[in-house]
Amino acid sequence: MKERVLQELYKIGQEIKLLEHSIALLGWDQETYMPETAIEERASQLGLLETILHTKRTSSELGNLFFELGATDKTPSGNDDLSPFEKSFVRVFYKDYRKYTMLPSELIAKLAHKASITQNVWVKARKTSDFSFFAPHLEELLELVREKADRLGYENHPYDALLDEYEPGTKTETVQNVFKTAKQDITELLSRITAAKQLDDAVIYRNYPIDQQKAFSELVLQDLGFELSRGRMDISVHPFTTTLGSNDVRLTTRYQEDYFNSGIFSVVHEGGHGLYEQGFSKEIQGNILSDGTSLGIHESQSRMWENFIGRSYPFWHYYYPMLRNYFPKNFQDVTLDAFYRAINRVEPSFIRVEADEVTYNLHIILRFELETKLITGELAVKDLPEAWNSASAELFGIVPENDAQGVLQDIHWSMGAFGYFPTYALGNLYAAQFFQSMEKELPDCTKKISQGSFEGILYWLREKIHRHGRIFDAEELCFRISGEQLNPCYFTDYLIKKYSELYGL
Ligand code: ZN
Repeated sequence: MKERVLQELYKIGQEIKLLEHSIALLGWDQETYMPETAIEERASQLGLLETILHTKRTSSELGNLFFELGATDKTPSGNDDLSPFEKSFVRVFYKDYRKYTMLPSELIAKLAHKASITQNVWVKARKTSDFSFFAPHLEELLELVREKADRLGYENHPYDALLDEYEPGTKTETVQNVFKTAKQDITELLSRITAAKQLDDAVIYRNYPIDQQKAFSELVLQDLGFELSRGRMDISVHPFTTTLGSNDVRLTTRYQEDYFNSGIFSVVHEGGHGLYEQGFSKEIQGNILSDGTSLGIHESQSRMWENFIGRSYPFWHYYYPMLRNYFPKNFQDVTLDAFYRAINRVEPSFIRVEADEVTYNLHIILRFELETKLITGELAVKDLPEAWNSASAELFGIVPENDAQGVLQDIHWSMGAFGYFPTYALGNLYAAQFFQSMEKELPDCTKKISQGSFEGILYWLREKIHRHGRIFDAEELCFRISGEQLNPCYFTDYLIKKYSELYGL
């Protein structure tokens, strides 16, 4: 009986995955090659497929299969006679099923509708820097988001229910504690950096022809281990990674002719996401377990490649001579040391997506603190701009001149995506902790980076993280890899060491 039920579950899981990948293909195409005139029909295509997918995810047939396996809220992994692998599969699938069935389709539709209007309003509000135009819509959307949290259920904090969608198993209180330590250490470091002599980064604003950037980036991407025979890289306005199948992982990037960092670091960042997606074991391919286990863990992979490897001295020790050949005019008067300093310059700024490694997490902490208070009602929407500006003054020592540069800069809240922001910072923190474990187990990894040899690192990441997909949640994975819970000190220690050297602190 058990075998038959499991087989049926695998089959439905595969169908869900096929639909998800089909939806992803339409979405990828929309962001890359689709002619603008196709938007309306594309929206209908996506809407129809989403409806079919939702029906499949919440079917009573699925409910019956979970019942037969003994999966309940108290025992999401099902009966004891299942193997560890089967238990993981049932637990992850059951939790998805619960999540989708807890929300009445009426609420889902209302949320989608309100979010699409609010997003539209946000675009206009940002253009004119007019928060008061945006505020009533955000308020209505927030009301729906709170209802969603109530429906999903939580023990301590309504934000737990929202966070769980992006970072399954992680609690608000954990994030609060981790961020508290990180905030203290980072602001302290930042004040020492801003008091020191600033680094010169003029070189990265010289002229970098896009064809050359593209050729160089693709070379790096393949060196890292991304298989272009199982994926592609294209151009889009906002870089992203999406998976269309076990052997089809799509990356996008953008290049700016007068700003070198944008292209290469987007490629390495998205490449990190792509390597995770290409690394699921055969056992879970095409199955609902073949996905990143949380957004934070996904981001840990992109950040590790982008920052811990891609912005490191050993990395450029290997690539800088090559880079000079690609752009012979730009680097004649620039030493490797000067280039390394230029790509790592730190400067408090208003805009999150342009932030450096040191200030980035502060941008996230600011948003996290505000959005948790918005959810509980501790902070009213009308007071949000003022709260934003005073937090900005506290964290960065600067206040945005207008709301477009401040509270209106990100799309997330207008989409109703509360609970999403912390995953960016968690990614950085996990990356530091994993990198430290890797250095212990692969003592020559820095040397390998300086030789442009990444096989050992990729193999380690595959074994420890990629191959498992969703089998372990983020906290369990972290414990298995490092022997402890998420500890922000690995990240702050890394920052302090790297930037003390760079800024001569
Ligand atoms: Zn990312």
